[in-house]
Amino acid sequence: MLNEIKSLNEECGIFGIWNHPKATEMTYYGLHSLQHRGQEGAGIVSTDGETLKGYRHLGLLADVFSTEKLAKLAGKAAIGHVRYATSGQKDLANVQPFLFHFQTGSFGLAHNGNLTNAKSLRHELEDTGAIFQTTSDTEALAHLIKRAGKDQFLDNLKVALNQVHGGFAYLLLTEDSLYAALDPNGFRPLAIGQLNGAYVVASETCAFDTVGATFVQDVEPGQIVQINDQGLHIHTYTEDIRPSICSMEYIYFARPDSNIKGINIHAARKRCGKTLAKEAYVEADVVTGVPDSSISAAIGYAEAAGLPYELGLIKNRYVARTFIQPSQELREQGVRMKLSAVRGVVAGKKVVVIDDSIVRGTTMRRIVGLLKEAGAKEVHVRVASPPLKFPCYYGIDIRSRDELIAANYSIEEIRQLIGADSLEFLSVSGLAESIGQPYPDYPDGGLCLSYFTGDYPTPLYDYEEEFLEAMKESNDPSLTYSFEPNLLKDTSQLFINGGK
Ligand code: AMP
Repeated sequence: MLNEIKSLNEECGIFGIWNHPKATEMTYYGLHSLQHRGQEGAGIVSTDGETLKGYRHLGLLADVFSTEKLAKLAGKAAIGHVRYATSGQKDLANVQPFLFHFQTGSFGLAHNGNLTNAKSLRHELEDTGAIFQTTSDTEALAHLIKRAGKDQFLDNLKVALNQVHGGFAYLLLTEDSLYAALDPNGFRPLAIGQLNGAYVVASETCAFDTVGATFVQDVEPGQIVQINDQGLHIHTYTEDIRPSICSMEYIYFARPDSNIKGINIHAARKRCGKTLAKEAYVEADVVTGVPDSSISAAIGYAEAAGLPYELGLIKNRYVARTFIQPSQELREQGVRMKLSAVRGVVAGKKVVVIDDSIVRGTTMRRIVGLLKEAGAKEVHVRVASPPLKFPCYYGIDIRSRDELIAANYSIEEIRQLIGADSLEFLSVSGLAESIGQPYPDYPDGGLCLSYFTGDYPTPLYDYEEEFLEAMKESNDPSLTYSFEPNLLKDTSQLFINGGK
């Protein structure tokens, strides 16, 4: 058995607004469009310019907030958070935003991402007297801000941000400013929009469409964007940046109507599907996709392969995501409740089924079974991302190589395990080229592909030893990995046609 690599994941959605008479309601609507980023807990902290108030609870946003609760938080500015926790950490104490009160003022804090040095920071802070109330990585930042010892909040924040490592998109709210800060790699997306006289900040641009805001700019790696009654001010807390935005945001996580670094998610997924058709064409009668996140790639595959795209699988929208069920049995039951095959579309046909990714293989095994039970003659599985072999330490809930089917079995073994007639994955270069280059000035385009390559763009700090141990036990000589920034590596294979 491989060593388990666990981390406190914070796979979340964040939204903030400054200078709006209905700031709290707007935050509610913004968070609603980010609900796909987290369903376990939700919260809002607001200010009227004098004090800060907050409310948070476990559950979906609509269950957490009633009209009365929102009215109690009325103010001119707010930040909010929807949380996707891994099992075992689903307690109220970890639901954000956190609200801290000091003699010198208060602040609210919301975090999307995962720190790689949270454990050691926590030890250091505890050893020098800090007391933590949660098991979340996020609390460490508040202690670091308080200890920085400068006069201005902004300067304290700059000092603190230089001490945390890993993936972070933070929103902070004080009585007089809203701050948005991004880690030096920009692992998680964070964008700024404008709504009449108000500024909004959100994990994804789909939130702007919901509240009627227009996109202004992305928060860039190493930046702190401060918004207050005097307008928007851009500060940098480090020049040492190396953009590497998470490729899983494009593959699975973000909503198709969002743009990340100017690249539309639906269009990127469709290009992945087209490339997959070129790389792994198979003769068939019909193409179908696993709803919802694979539909764009399936449309692209069908278009490039010259095959009809059909709705061969239907999703019951009222079942929570299977991925997050704590046990394998519950996950399988979840998939059964969630998806049905359309007999009229697949019976007697050779079917190509597209999924955006295979993690444990649970979903795909069940889908192949469903399609065959519904009479499909052949089922060919095509995956619009490369085999997921390495954990993510920057905020996506892929934590242990034990859980990753492609880390433990060959493609032929996986094909047999899921019962498909054939199975192929998109190549790493095909993926990078299809997404495009979020940061065209960087030789690797500024994408993090570490789940597929094992090349992590930063040191892993607290996780490095565990990772090396797990790799040693995995005994797989075909795998290479590094923790060093690979800027100087030959990346010519990644963007054969220059990306976009
Ligand atoms: P699995 O059943 O474990 O192979 O999970 C694969 C399914 O989960 C695919 O249909 C993906 O769309 C979805 N998926 C991929 N990555 C994640 C993630 N980080 N969190 C939740 N679901 C995911």
